[in-house]
Amino acid sequence: MEPIGSVLQRYAGLFEIRELGQELCNGCGVTVRLVEVIPKGSLPGGRFKLGCRCEELRIVREIMAENKRRHTERIRALFDRLSLISPSLKNARFETFRVETDSQRQALAAAKAYVERFGTGPAENMLFVGPYGTGKSHLAVSVVRALIDREYTGIFASVPDLLTKIKATYNRRSDVSEDDVLEALRTVDVLVLDDIGAEYSGNADESWAESKIFEVMNARQGMATVYTTNLNGEQLQAKIGARNFSRMCEGLVVVKLSGRDYRRTKIKF
Ligand SMILES: [Zn+2]
Repeated sequence: MEPIGSVLQRYAGLFEIRELGQELCNGCGVTVRLVEVIPKGSLPGGRFKLGCRCEELRIVREIMAENKRRHTERIRALFDRLSLISPSLKNARFETFRVETDSQRQALAAAKAYVERFGTGPAENMLFVGPYGTGKSHLAVSVVRALIDREYTGIFASVPDLLTKIKATYNRRSDVSEDDVLEALRTVDVLVLDDIGAEYSGNADESWAESKIFEVMNARQGMATVYTTNLNGEQLQAKIGARNFSRMCEGLVVVKLSGRDYRRTKIKF
């Protein structure tokens, strides 16, 4: 192999470097040396920025974007794997919420404002209350999806389905154990407990249900939980117990929905 010294000797004299001064590179913000390479033979010349970090920064940005994409994918996978959500709500978003009454318009605005405020102050709980079919669950799903878009972790759990599943499946042959599920419910940035206070199939054991719900709600003190119910305050307190009700009321934003049946009006004949 030819020594580097003799290579340089062969090329020396084939080009000339002229210093053009210094400049702040707009791309990387580093002060760079501007040089002009003037070839004497057939070598390419041109102007160069010595010390420019643009290329390095481009690579770093690409890596960061890739990490962010993977992070977002993991958050979506968590939601998909652990949420107990009816198929009709799988794609519910703010954009697909149909406003037909004033209360729905106000509820949509309140839900969007909740998302905007999220993470800027103390955690707030939110309760969508109103009759069946007014779009409470749709808005609750939309809140979680909007927060997932902002890289918060979230799970949507229909309370009757959750209690039934905890009782029937998680401790038997299931790929997810009850402990895993409860741990996720306790720690996600936002949890929806949909249809809280509703009957579930194992309703012979109300105190068991109450204590399971308390386990989750108690662990989520200072964290955001979104509830939906078609019960009024008095009925709900009687149903979920005073302890749960008082946890729920901490920093609670109440959004009332009324009006035409949201689900029924979707079908037109
Ligand atoms: Zn640069």
